[in-house]
Amino acid sequence: MHSALDILHTYEGAFPVALMREDYGLTDNDLVIVSAMLTSYGQRMEIPKGVCETEFNEYLINPVTGRTSRSFRYCGKVDMISGSDLWEHKTASQITGSYLDKLWTDSQIIGYVWAMRGKQHIGRVVYNVLQKPRLRRKDTEAIETYAKRVAKWYLEKNRFHRERIIVGGQMVATWQYDLWAVTQEILRARKVGFRRNTARCFDWGRACAYLPVCQAVNPEMVLEIEYEETERHPELSEETKREK
Ligand code: SF4
Repeated sequence: MHSALDILHTYEGAFPVALMREDYGLTDNDLVIVSAMLTSYGQRMEIPKGVCETEFNEYLINPVTGRTSRSFRYCGKVDMISGSDLWEHKTASQITGSYLDKLWTDSQIIGYVWAMRGKQHIGRVVYNVLQKPRLRRKDTEAIETYAKRVAKWYLEKNRFHRERIIVGGQMVATWQYDLWAVTQEILRARKVGFRRNTARCFDWGRACAYLPVCQAVNPEMVLEIEYEETERHPELSEETKREK
């Protein structure tokens, strides 16, 4: 979805959704949803052009001394910059008042504003929220019938919302203090060990992926048998991941 939005917001003309099937391994059902969503998005919303997928790689700065950290970098990728707006694309199954309220507590975008300092003036953050249908294809339903149902759902009303948020200097300064405090906890934990935070084991309505390790009598053995190490941050380029 992000890649399709990048193309829509970068180039003129309609996006050939079918191309995504090969590039991203989409199923027929996925393609129906992406196609209907982007068609409706293009018809209902203004599509400003911008620079998409800007990566950053910044050493953190001690907010008290102003010194650059030797251990911690903040790396990531901004969805889009258009003028002085920083855009963050989100898909959601519902766009409710409480969903929008929570966006204000999203520290990620404050970090993005910090990372862009000195490179690009950011006046505000635009949350570009695209609603996904909860419609499932029935067992015996033809793909054409399913496509019509999904297209009708997008026709019924506007399923998109843009929330604009001003990120002030104080918000950025507070984010910097908070993140710095986390880095100090990590440094301490590397010396004396990480403490478990068992109040969080079942957040997000499911068990934490590391529950088997935390419950194990022999965590090292569980780690070796049940887990495998994968590439870190595959979404970032090698250049961004490299230390500066
Ligand atoms: S299971 Fe997850 S949340 Fe719970 S203590 Fe272990 S790492 Fe923390």
